[in-house]
Amino acid sequence: MPRRASCRATGHAPGTTTPERPREPLAADWLRGGQGPEAERRSVHVRASGGRMAVLGFFSASPPTFGFLLDIDGVLVRGHRVIPAAVEAFRRLVNAQGQLRVPVVFVTNAGNILQHGKAQELSALLGFKVEPDQVILSHSPMKLFSQYHGKRMLVSGQGPLVENTRALGFENVVTVDELRMAFPVLDMVDLQRRPKTTPLPRSDFPAIEGVLLLGEPVRWETSLQLIMDVLLSNGNPGTGLATAPYPHLPVLASNMDLLWMAEARMPRFGHGTFLLCLETIYRKVTGNELRYEGLMGKPSILTYQYAEDLIRQQAERRGWAAPIQKLYAVGDNPMSDVYGANLFHQYLQMVKHDGAEELGADGLWKQRPSATQSCSSILVCTGVYSPKTPGSTEPAQGEEPPFHGHRDFSFSPKLMEASHIVNDVDEAVQLVFHKEGWAL
Ligand SMILES: [Mg+2]
Repeated sequence: MPRRASCRATGHAPGTTTPERPREPLAADWLRGGQGPEAERRSVHVRASGGRMAVLGFFSASPPTFGFLLDIDGVLVRGHRVIPAAVEAFRRLVNAQGQLRVPVVFVTNAGNILQHGKAQELSALLGFKVEPDQVILSHSPMKLFSQYHGKRMLVSGQGPLVENTRALGFENVVTVDELRMAFPVLDMVDLQRRPKTTPLPRSDFPAIEGVLLLGEPVRWETSLQLIMDVLLSNGNPGTGLATAPYPHLPVLASNMDLLWMAEARMPRFGHGTFLLCLETIYRKVTGNELRYEGLMGKPSILTYQYAEDLIRQQAERRGWAAPIQKLYAVGDNPMSDVYGANLFHQYLQMVKHDGAEELGADGLWKQRPSATQSCSSILVCTGVYSPKTPGSTEPAQGEEPPFHGHRDFSFSPKLMEASHIVNDVDEAVQLVFHKEGWAL
């Protein structure tokens, strides 16, 4: 049964187990066999020496059988500021040699940044070296859609768009800005941007074969207009409007978050809001639903499969022989982090019961058989979720929370119920270590 509790300003959330920091272990503890069922218990050789016990050395710790999926915004950072509990959490997660004690990946729905840039930013904030391959951006699973990597794709978003798409494997992309430059008469909302003279129509622009929606763009009206133009013209926005093809060109999108939390006291529009606009316009104009070939970022199962694979690879690189059986996903957004972790947990149970083959046709990534048994959701109160924050998803008494999820993910209150609610990520780590019998 999921445990729910309210966030409190200080102390531990009720209903969660937040043990006190234990005293340093003594040699006598090790002689007696350590501290109970501690999975990471270190073995110590001792022998009598002049009536005293001497510690000779440590065997390596038992390998972890669990890993963490940590959200970034609202869990580790708020805007450009680190959340102090995140620094504390990493003191627990890292051993004396500066290495992680368990596999950790950072799963963010951000996408307008490079993977190595995010890793550098996190390293500076957390005081711990984060490797780029520990960072999963919302669009990272687009690497798996190799059937589109050679196609000419229109890309929408901001930041290092071309570099990002190249890193994902796309070889031939056109940005919305490049398309606007090629067809200046398409972008008409801003009067200042309208061409003073009518440019000659051009026919040398190769047709666009698909659309990548990486993250929220700036100047939404431009992106909305030009993406619509591409979809309605089957990739030839310079031509007159014929009958809009349906199904339309393939669209891959990442980051469905309606809202996200930055420095402002109230949540900000996320890419989910942009997608909502695009879907609404498309349906209104054509009478048909906008369809996605792939939707990724949390809460998509695809993203969790991708994260699970990186966790497994990390454990293998560290030489941890025991399979990773449990995942703990820590996040601040009930709709993306909690819903996603619970959906993935549900998927893991289905796979265990029915096998993965039946699920392959749904666009899910067929990966190697997984040892993962469960994925628990842990909700923190340092970001979007807060009972006292305007726009929070905490319902008033007797009311259903508003559904902030994407159109293609059904409203399921049960999936938005966290396995645990704690104040912050440090409490989340303490909770998991306690559950797993690890020293804090
Ligand atoms: Mg977040």
